[in-house]
Amino acid sequence: MPKAAYFHIPFCVNICHYCDFNKVFLKGQPVMEYLACMDTEMERTIQKFPYEKMDTLFIGGGTPTALSAEQLDIFLAAVARHFPVSDVKEYTVEANPEQTTKEKLEVLKKHGVNRLSIGAQAFQPSLLKELGRTHHAGHVEQTVSEAKAIGIDNLSIDLMFGLPGQTMDMFKETIAAALALNVPHISSYSLQVEPKTIFYIRSQKGDLKLPPQELEAEMFEYLMTELERNGYHQYEISNFAKPGYESLHNLQYWDNNEYYGIGAGAHSYMNGVRRVNAGPLKKYMNLVQENGFPYTEENKLTEAERMEEELFMGLRKRKGISSRTFEARYGKPLCDVFGRQIEMLIDRGLLEKDGDWIRLTHSGILLGNEVFSEFISAV
Ligand code: SF4
Repeated sequence: MPKAAYFHIPFCVNICHYCDFNKVFLKGQPVMEYLACMDTEMERTIQKFPYEKMDTLFIGGGTPTALSAEQLDIFLAAVARHFPVSDVKEYTVEANPEQTTKEKLEVLKKHGVNRLSIGAQAFQPSLLKELGRTHHAGHVEQTVSEAKAIGIDNLSIDLMFGLPGQTMDMFKETIAAALALNVPHISSYSLQVEPKTIFYIRSQKGDLKLPPQELEAEMFEYLMTELERNGYHQYEISNFAKPGYESLHNLQYWDNNEYYGIGAGAHSYMNGVRRVNAGPLKKYMNLVQENGFPYTEENKLTEAERMEEELFMGLRKRKGISSRTFEARYGKPLCDVFGRQIEMLIDRGLLEKDGDWIRLTHSGILLGNEVFSEFISAV
């Protein structure tokens, strides 16, 4: 039964050059009609797949803060009707710094939002321009200080590395700027050039110069060392938190638990079935208006698939996975199912055992995808 819900707001004011998320230009879109469809989807979903208690809510995108304060107010009131926020431990909204006004922050606060995930990415004007971002460092500082001032202090900053034109000194400067914000959570991902993005088109033309792999690895090493040195625990490969500020919502994914996914292109996992909602706005709205459910894919997981997911999601966490928890969930000892793969990865120095726990070593963190691929189609 889900204890987490994700809501997708697909509107963006501009399109970033690296982005392959499900999103559309805000201008001219039927925003209110879309929000009404999300309201319907929430109602129908909960009727069909009821929950007992919701622990986390997460509004992402696209850009939730691209909505006006009034639209946010209407949408968050709809969320609260279906998911009473008094029970919720963590309620996150993704915030783009240049659109997060004081008025919008007040609306978020009023509806019980207690965490912001702020897309900073980098602190150099040249890199932000290269990424197609329209904010500047001052916007990030302003959002952080205004959020803290109204009592939302569970703040996360997103950073990127391995960017075109990014030097080691620039990345060091970015980390220093992020640390100076004194926020309790930092996420940092390396750039992936995904199909159908501006960066992809440029790379096909040979017009995208990325830092060499060794430099990207050096940046990742620096990130891990510098954040640990400043009191941030690396609780997942790309996520660092001060004690008590780990993202409870994302931990639901890595713990392989069920969750609702509401909105265009959202994914969900309910009653052992993974579903994907229609991505294009019009198709999503038509499906919801016709029958309340916008699914375009439904995949009932086999036990083997669930066990494989348990491994490659769970091993993303620094504490790893517990053999006892695995056996309690699946009724089989972990070593009976994945013993061969685990021993081989231990021999290669990529996994380690610590009592009941199996986790990535330092080398395993650097080669995470190689480790996870060993568990795909392994049963
Ligand atoms: S990165 Fe975020 S703001 Fe930029 S286009 Fe993608 S969803 Fe929109």
